[in-house]
Amino acid sequence: MFSAVRTAFARRSFATSAVAVDGFTGAVGNTPLIYLKHLSEKTGSRIFGKAEFQNPGGSVKDRAALGVVRDAEDQGLLKSGGTVVEGTAGNTGIGLAHVCRARGYKCVIFMPNTQSQEKIDLLRMLGAEVHAVPAVAYENPANYNHLARDHAKGLSNAIWTNQFDNTANAYAHYISTGPEIWEQTQGDIDAFICATGTGGTLAGTGKYLKEKSNGKTQIWLADPPGSVLTSYINSGGKLTERSGSSITEGIGQGRITDNLATFVNDISGAFTVPDEKSIQMVYELLDTEGLYLGASSALNVVAAVELALKLGKGTNVVTVLCDGAYRYQSRLFSQKWLEAKGLSGAIPEHLKKYTVL
Ligand code: PMP
Repeated sequence: MFSAVRTAFARRSFATSAVAVDGFTGAVGNTPLIYLKHLSEKTGSRIFGKAEFQNPGGSVKDRAALGVVRDAEDQGLLKSGGTVVEGTAGNTGIGLAHVCRARGYKCVIFMPNTQSQEKIDLLRMLGAEVHAVPAVAYENPANYNHLARDHAKGLSNAIWTNQFDNTANAYAHYISTGPEIWEQTQGDIDAFICATGTGGTLAGTGKYLKEKSNGKTQIWLADPPGSVLTSYINSGGKLTERSGSSITEGIGQGRITDNLATFVNDISGAFTVPDEKSIQMVYELLDTEGLYLGASSALNVVAAVELALKLGKGTNVVTVLCDGAYRYQSRLFSQKWLEAKGLSGAIPEHLKKYTVL
């Protein structure tokens, strides 16, 4: 009854590609699916992480960035020498900055000034014009997204890519992340779970997996504190006020974006992962699996483990390893920063050796 993937996968081979790819954009996608050995053994199930940190711009958002730019080009909205404007927590902006350099567009990024300095610096080094603006709620006209939209309106030959409500974002995952995971698991996948920012990854990947499995693959949502999505899904669609915050960057939401709306009714369930567990998993992934990953990846893995335990032994659960820790290391590995966030107690004694002062 079980297919080969339950017992066998490419243990010893190096990932290879048979053909050369065309520039930066050709290198987006086709990331490995990593079997997380230690965590799998702990649960008696198989936990896999899609290695999105291996995209050429370093995150899962390279797919969405390429998707929205291609869509705008196909529609004739973005012409040679044009400008791409976006509001982003950073990773979409980094993906867009790469795509824009590779395709000859200018790139203007509006982001909340609460994001890590590494991301802001990198965007500037990639040639983007960066506006780090005060972090205010979506309802406020000064929210970074609205500022991006208004800025694009004032320029000629410019587009606002609108990653939250432009479904070319989810579509990029529907045609790439979903099929790749289906192939890599040989269709033997009980559940897929991840957190959402725009919802593009969850909706696009989830829709593909659900369709291909004839509804057999369950799709779950994982949330950081301060996001309203868990209560929305578990209450059958009641939207509450946003309250609280999280150290995880790029995820959590206060509304149902158009990308998430395309799939929200097909989500099997959701749960919130506290920051203590996410930060602990950042260290545990490094210590046991040798993976140096950001906090959203860690949150996803905590959620995948919890879901595997919930679904019972012998299940195949896939999640997303969104980006590397390099983008956040001045925070996640700083004792001072962890103390300031009240999280230093979350790191077990044997993992404290990884922190720097
Ligand atoms: N993790 C990180 C680090 C991100 O930057 C993002 C996107 N902001 C996500 C996860 C969530 O991806 P999506 O927008 O597709 O929901």
